[in-house]
Amino acid sequence: MEPVKYYSTNLKADEVTFNEALLKGLAPDKGLYMPKEIPVFTKAEIDSFSQKEYYEIAFEVARKFLIGQINDDELLALVKDAYNYSIPLEKGFENKYIMRLDQGPTASFKDFAARMMGRLMQYYIKKEDRKLLILTATSGDTGSAIANAFYDLDNIQVVVLYPDNEVTDRQRKQMTTLGKNIKIISLTGKFDDCQALVKEAFSDSDLDYLDLSSANSINIGRLIPQIVYYFYSFSRLRKLARPAGEGNENDDVIFSVPSGNFGDMMGGVFAKRMGLPIKKFIISVNENDEFPAFLNSGDYSKIEPSKNCLSSAMNVGHPSNLVRLVALYGGVMNEKGEILKAPNMDKMRKDIFSTSVTDMETKEMIKEAYDKHNLILEPHGSVGWKGLMEYCNENNVDKDQLCISLETAHPAKFPDQIVEILKFDPELPASLEGLENKKEYYDNLDNNYLDFKKYLINNY
Ligand SMILES: *Cc1c(COP(=O)(O)O)cnc(C)c1O
Repeated sequence: MEPVKYYSTNLKADEVTFNEALLKGLAPDKGLYMPKEIPVFTKAEIDSFSQKEYYEIAFEVARKFLIGQINDDELLALVKDAYNYSIPLEKGFENKYIMRLDQGPTASFKDFAARMMGRLMQYYIKKEDRKLLILTATSGDTGSAIANAFYDLDNIQVVVLYPDNEVTDRQRKQMTTLGKNIKIISLTGKFDDCQALVKEAFSDSDLDYLDLSSANSINIGRLIPQIVYYFYSFSRLRKLARPAGEGNENDDVIFSVPSGNFGDMMGGVFAKRMGLPIKKFIISVNENDEFPAFLNSGDYSKIEPSKNCLSSAMNVGHPSNLVRLVALYGGVMNEKGEILKAPNMDKMRKDIFSTSVTDMETKEMIKEAYDKHNLILEPHGSVGWKGLMEYCNENNVDKDQLCISLETAHPAKFPDQIVEILKFDPELPASLEGLENKKEYYDNLDNNYLDFKKYLINNY
């Protein structure tokens, strides 16, 4: 079979194969790479997933996108090594579940993408005998997931920028206590400022010699791993949902995804295009409500600056993956967020419901989910669960309908809020233990591109 080709959403760059898209990150015309064709699974293939382990499903998904780019044995070994932790599916009530994506080494769902992407990058740069400098902006979780996934890899250096006042102590320490090939910058600014500096560095030809690459969710290598858990959770819960042979025409699922840059949600949208019977996506956002407003009106405007909310990893006023969503629905959005060709909004509304959840509602839902269903949710997961409750109530969703809401971080990453609302300290997962006593390494920079550029040139 022919390898899948990747095009740029700005439509002005050459098509590339997977490994080029992975190592470049951003296309030369500042667009994001998208697969030209989305591979599909047969119904029988999807049925077979209920007999497979998580890493085997990851292998089946990745293989479709990487045909001709890596051999099967190597890919299988790579995903087996990446996914050595559990994915709990916890019942809330009726047929509504929480999928906990928080058991990886940094206790956020970003481990799923970072661990596979790091291993794939390592595989290709070794083969091509190259080096890479990964630049990443983070609002907390990406930075720690990437830093941990890339720690101590050969020929790869990592620089992470985080907004000085927007990450928790625990999130910061997960990045700053590593050292070796990992450098961390505390920026006087917001997440969007960090992202802007990274983008500017990529388009600066003075820095070409650094072999810059991105590990942000603009990288297609982040999205492919995020398709897998949608297939996995469906494969596990559909059996519980309805006995075999009964009512199979209703064998479908609603997902609620707490969203910021929309990388997680794009994984789900790809899963749907690949054949997973997803009835509806609920895109739950915090008070940064540019997307629900867009879905409603068809007119898009970013929120600048983005609002600071409790679910800090979702404080995004202009989701970087929105250009991909627009592309999948037949439109074109450029890197500035301007719509050059309108997507099919009716189709988008048929597939997606989106709602904005306030901080007050986020807190109330943490309490309610615990009191009513014994679920411990942190702020991001609470936004997702709240969106699901809202959708089900407004649409009289059948109580047997399978619904899965994603919990994207471990409650112990947000101890202050949990203690304030639930009055107890969530148990620490093993991966977060002992951070307090480790030495931290990081640098401070002002929000100024020239300073950042000098820093890169001086250090590399
Ligand atoms: C990154 C992150 C999100 C948002 O994911 P996107 O892919 O950017 O939409 C949600 N929750 C947590 C805990 C995160 O770290």
